[in-house]
Amino acid sequence: MSPEKTEVLVVGAGQAGVAMSEHLTRAGIPHLVLERDRIAEAWRTGRWDSLVANGPAWHDRFPGLEFDGEPEAFVPKEQVADYFVAYADKFDMPIRTGVSVTGVTRNQDRAGFTADTSAGPVEARYIVAATGPFQVPLIPALVPDSAGIDQIHSSAYRNPGQLAPGGVLVVGAGSSGVQIAEELLASGREVWLSVGPHDRPPRRYRGRDNVWWLGVLNKWDAEAVPGSEHTTIAVSGAHGGYTIDFRKLAAAGMVLVGRTEGFADGRMTFAGDLAANVRRGDANYLSVLDEADAWVARNGFSLPEEPGAREIGPDPVCMTDPILSLDLKAAGIGTIVWATGFAVDFSWLGVAPQDERGRPVQNRGISTEPGVYFLGQPWQTRRGSSFIWGVWHDAKYVADHIAKQRGYLSAYGGAG
Ligand SMILES: Cc1cc2nc3c(=O)[nH]c(=O)nc-3n(C[C@H](O)[C@H](O)[C@H](O)COP(=O)(O)OP(=O)(O)OC[C@H]3O[C@@H](n4cnc5c(N)ncnc54)[C@H](O)[C@@H]3O)c2cc1C
Repeated sequence: MSPEKTEVLVVGAGQAGVAMSEHLTRAGIPHLVLERDRIAEAWRTGRWDSLVANGPAWHDRFPGLEFDGEPEAFVPKEQVADYFVAYADKFDMPIRTGVSVTGVTRNQDRAGFTADTSAGPVEARYIVAATGPFQVPLIPALVPDSAGIDQIHSSAYRNPGQLAPGGVLVVGAGSSGVQIAEELLASGREVWLSVGPHDRPPRRYRGRDNVWWLGVLNKWDAEAVPGSEHTTIAVSGAHGGYTIDFRKLAAAGMVLVGRTEGFADGRMTFAGDLAANVRRGDANYLSVLDEADAWVARNGFSLPEEPGAREIGPDPVCMTDPILSLDLKAAGIGTIVWATGFAVDFSWLGVAPQDERGRPVQNRGISTEPGVYFLGQPWQTRRGSSFIWGVWHDAKYVADHIAKQRGYLSAYGGAG
């Protein structure tokens, strides 16, 4: 089959691929976006049923289109996916769905690359991998199947009714773990939550949402420095948005434990770091309030004071007398939900160097392999890179880079 030809092949049509297509269109660069499922599939089938966006509608969007409805609302996940479909329609994007890219090789006798796809080969001068920051669910190899406990990753969790009867141990207290644990508790389950180190920003402070504070305090846009890693952040837009407070969850009946460390003879063991982790989260929370207050004073804004936000409740028993070992069956636990994060898999893009964890070797999305680009990776340029708000700006940077390269190629008559 003779290859289809395009200038830029974008792989993946989540928010990153959609943003990329917008900027390439604006720059007048011919391109094709291939998506193995549907546009923004992760928002439809890679998340639990009740998920809403973590940021309000006025913020978690691209500049070119607003969400219908209340700007301060937290948009349900299906509507987030619908938004990206509408965005692709609005810009008439050349997105082809249901096509997987399975491999990419550099052309030997001419410039560019050939991608193997489920619909035949595609040749392109540039490749943009927009296949997501959170691709492969990570479950630590701790509990063998023979233990007789159901185990699922947070990406496979849908709702409480899906789980076997009994208590649930949720491992990981980032945004996914804490929201799932809370939903399970509210459904009447007994819930244990294993809490590691985390940040927990205030949902709202002095009348402004957390995303606004992150913006004015220049945290979304904070430049990546070598070694910048995805941070575990406990934040939620559920039920209109509220500040995650582990002490309140414990008061509501959730049993908190420290970091999950091991499993033997039916017993799970936990580090004795619960109190330290919760206090670290408190310190992060209070530091945001301090920075916000300093910002208000410096800028002469008139925002209502909120001294009550600084009150931290008493330590629950599970913090003062931590559980270090738990017989799961004796405790009635039938399921473990591993909210332990994701890895990436760029094995299909062997042409571009990757590190020992399979992460692309890139700087601001530009691979060390000329002609290959990445988009949507955590801390690709800034804290916001893997989020809706940030990826749009990173896509512009990548499109500009491609436009500049094309400019050189077209100089001197463009031969070659
Ligand atoms: C639970 C959860 C909640 C989140 N909530 C928010 C939030 O509220 N606000 C926010 O800003 N961010 C949020 N994020 C972070 C981020 O916005 C999402 O992870 C988002 O899906 C990332 O978009 P993406 O386009 O980079 O990747 P993805 O959405 O993962 O899209 C990548 C696409 O590439 C396709 N693909 C992969 N491999 C191939 C291939 N070989 N060939 C063809 N297609 C391929 C996939 O099918 C997929 O559609 C959340 C993340 C998680 C996990």
